[in-house]
Amino acid sequence: MQLTIIIFNGTALIAIIEHGLRNGNKPNTVLIRKRNHENRFIWLFALVLIGIASHCTTTTCPEPIVTLEVYEDQMVQIRQTLLDHPPNSGDLLIREQTIMSLDDILSVESSRDSANVFEFYAAMMQKVSNEIDVEVHDGLRIWMMYNHGFIIKTPQNTFAFDLIDAYNGWQRYRSYELPENVVNAVDVLFISHQHLDHWDETLIQKIRAHGGMVIESTPDEPLYINGMKVDVHLGLHNIENRIFEVTTTNGFKILHTGDNQTSEALPLIENIDVLLLNAWVNESGSTYGTYGMRNCINKLKPTLMIPGHIHELFHVLENRAKYKWSFYINDGSLPSAVQVMAWGECYDVVK
Ligand SMILES: [Zn+2]
Ligand SMILES: [Zn+2]
Repeated sequence: MQLTIIIFNGTALIAIIEHGLRNGNKPNTVLIRKRNHENRFIWLFALVLIGIASHCTTTTCPEPIVTLEVYEDQMVQIRQTLLDHPPNSGDLLIREQTIMSLDDILSVESSRDSANVFEFYAAMMQKVSNEIDVEVHDGLRIWMMYNHGFIIKTPQNTFAFDLIDAYNGWQRYRSYELPENVVNAVDVLFISHQHLDHWDETLIQKIRAHGGMVIESTPDEPLYINGMKVDVHLGLHNIENRIFEVTTTNGFKILHTGDNQTSEALPLIENIDVLLLNAWVNESGSTYGTYGMRNCINKLKPTLMIPGHIHELFHVLENRAKYKWSFYINDGSLPSAVQVMAWGECYDVVK
């Protein structure tokens, strides 16, 4: 539940609006048209309401950049530890502890306005830039990008799902664009749906401009793109949500779920090598993402599951999937391996 407060000449109009933030909608705006200093009671009342409207994050004026200096050393340390312990070869316990530390930081609401969090993200994207042009000789190399974005490189192709530049809210203070060579590397971009945490018009134009393909339709027949077979399924969401089943030229089957809301709505597909699963899949709100993820994994039994849609910073905290959920589900009883990755990390998958 959120509050929208509109003040016209000292008249407070308070509208309480249920918001489907889960669906990637923009949070409500606290719109203050004119302050009437003569009517201090109404103004004081409004301020109290603003204080309790903990979900409201935007005003008509840009908020100042809140630099949480306390995090600076931590962010540098987290990045260095992740670099020292990459997904393929790092110490699992150290990785889990490090990603849980990142989880704690991103679970503080103000961290999304922290310059240090932004710098961490930018540095991790620079890491992707340094790696993306390196040839892949076997299997898949999978980069975890922002939100539910992934880039996958094989010996033959480089393709991406739901790639966007960054958290939209950062654009209020500073613009961030993915490094040019990362964008130029993408031959095909698959877009699950047009919510802004999955769909980035500027990025789409850039990919088309360099000759890349963007798939954001739902054909009945399989597509054959650069030697890959692509089956497009529909999931359950409040707008049309595509679930892409991509079979690469070197024989790996990848399923990206977009914002599909339930395990039941997943197409029953066998022999999935990599499931890129939205970690908030909560059976349309009837349970928690942990149970939903378990249900999805037990239904599809992929060889590997990589969770996405974690800490999408536009979503209020209680609606944001956390890294810890994906560690909790990995209790040894699952039929699949689970690889939790932070922004910019990459993982090599071979058969
Ligand atoms: Zn969505
Ligand atoms: Zn989403």
